[in-house]
Amino acid sequence: MAQAWEDGRPDLDVELAVVGAGAAGLYTALRAAGAGARVALISAAPLAQTASYWAQGGLAAALAADDSPELHLRDTERAGRGAVRRSAAEILVAEAPECVRELQAAGISFDADRFGRLALGLEGGHSVRRVVHAGGSATGRRMLRQLSALVAEEPRIEVLENTRADALWPVEGDGGVRCRGLRCDDGRVVGARAVVLSSGGAAALWARTTNPPGSQGVGLLLAHALGARLADLELLQFHPTAVIGVRGREGFLVTEAIRGEGATLHGADGERFVDELAPRDEVARAIQAELERTGARSVGLDMRKIDPALFPNVVGTLREAGLDPTRELIPVAPAAHYMMGGIVTDLQARSSVPGLYAVGEASCTGLHGANRLASNSLSECFVFARRAASAALQEPAPSQASAEDLRGLAGQQGIPESSPQTRAALWREAGIVRTAEGLERLSRDRHPLAQLIARCALTRRESRGAHRRADYPESDPALEHRHVVVDARDELVWETWL
Ligand SMILES: Cc1cc2nc3c(=O)[nH]c(=O)nc-3n(C[C@H](O)[C@H](O)[C@H](O)COP(=O)(O)OP(=O)(O)OC[C@H]3O[C@@H](n4cnc5c(N)ncnc54)[C@H](O)[C@@H]3O)c2cc1C
Repeated sequence: MAQAWEDGRPDLDVELAVVGAGAAGLYTALRAAGAGARVALISAAPLAQTASYWAQGGLAAALAADDSPELHLRDTERAGRGAVRRSAAEILVAEAPECVRELQAAGISFDADRFGRLALGLEGGHSVRRVVHAGGSATGRRMLRQLSALVAEEPRIEVLENTRADALWPVEGDGGVRCRGLRCDDGRVVGARAVVLSSGGAAALWARTTNPPGSQGVGLLLAHALGARLADLELLQFHPTAVIGVRGREGFLVTEAIRGEGATLHGADGERFVDELAPRDEVARAIQAELERTGARSVGLDMRKIDPALFPNVVGTLREAGLDPTRELIPVAPAAHYMMGGIVTDLQARSSVPGLYAVGEASCTGLHGANRLASNSLSECFVFARRAASAALQEPAPSQASAEDLRGLAGQQGIPESSPQTRAALWREAGIVRTAEGLERLSRDRHPLAQLIARCALTRRESRGAHRRADYPESDPALEHRHVVVDARDELVWETWL
């Protein structure tokens, strides 16, 4: 498919190349096209295989009369366990309400009460109802369908479907390397003023996960290969309530919003053992402790009193799997869910490499700290997609490439796939509770991201949020607001982010 590039021209030349068509990628592409730019949207997976499509709860925004951005910030910081970068969280809470209005204007119809006001859900760690949803627990599906339809209608966006970005294109500039575009797995080269990585998280690198298989952190490795800094790789959130022991539905997530409506968790003796609406790290650890105490594989989620009409797709999926949530407890246990770490970005979504941006779960602004507040991630996708699109279009026009540049890119190595052994090792050695010995073993895994995760987790000698070390069970006050950063030369450095 690729040509010889004798004239130094890439196969496709656009202003912005966006990698990944989840919430972050679709919205970045739409915003850039809306500003008049030509965009290439490179999407490895069909729509239904993005984490965004699977999102159930919704997006958090301070819209209720008894809510405010300040209260949303307070809840985000409390959940984040002394590691939230306040400057980023302030942007999220201030801009999320406007994003909800923009999405409504784009044709997304969020659930409303009988007076036509937005029906807001309550989730763990939120002190008030603040979660906007669509179709009950079909929020991601409804949003992605509408955003994809808009992308398909937009003549300025060229979608490269079933295509994977497998290398970024470095060019030498005055200030060092900058990103000039990317190479696709079919050999085509896309040249651009800037590249936005919205390739999702890495939770599917863990054997037990709520994520689609494409969430393997490929964007993080692409960025790092170009010299971009990564951070907080040890901070991986485990969702407390994924279905366990049901063939074909292993890892299916039962949204926190169901606990927000009153569903309860029960141990083997039938007793409740945790505040179901505590932040996720607390609930996941309490479940894990209960499993270790009793030797059971799962605890029971009692949603028998919940109106099934409120969560039609969760109830439907459980019934298809042979479980009747109106009559029996659902077997659940924690599973790897959300990567707080990622490609280090500033407040305009710029990575440390000029011309390279990251948005959504692939990015690490520091706003989630050590434990993401439920439903803050979809809001983050939209808030920072807007910022990325406008900043990226201010990048200088790209320099003329040579045929030699393009042939150099063609010869670059791609990103290695993960093996089942790596995924099992991450679950075993970098699961809910970690030890130095296990992490040392993991640091010798063949997969480069698994190695980096292990090194970061070894470096954080404390327990904080989602990162629990059996050998360092307490939080170290000296590490408040400190983040483990992997620099361009693979060295680990501590930084303070405020
Ligand atoms: C089951 C589930 C429920 C959730 N519920 C909620 C919720 O209610 N509220 C909330 O806020 N968050 C929720 N989350 C988290 C949230 O959905 C994600 O953090 C968010 O959707 C990530 O969006 P994204 O656009 O960054 O990435 P994604 O939606 O994951 O999209 C990334 C896309 O990029 C593709 N890709 C990866 N690498 C490449 C490559 N090299 N080339 C081309 N394409 C590539 C991937 O295949 C994928 O399709 C949930 C997550 C899951 C898994």
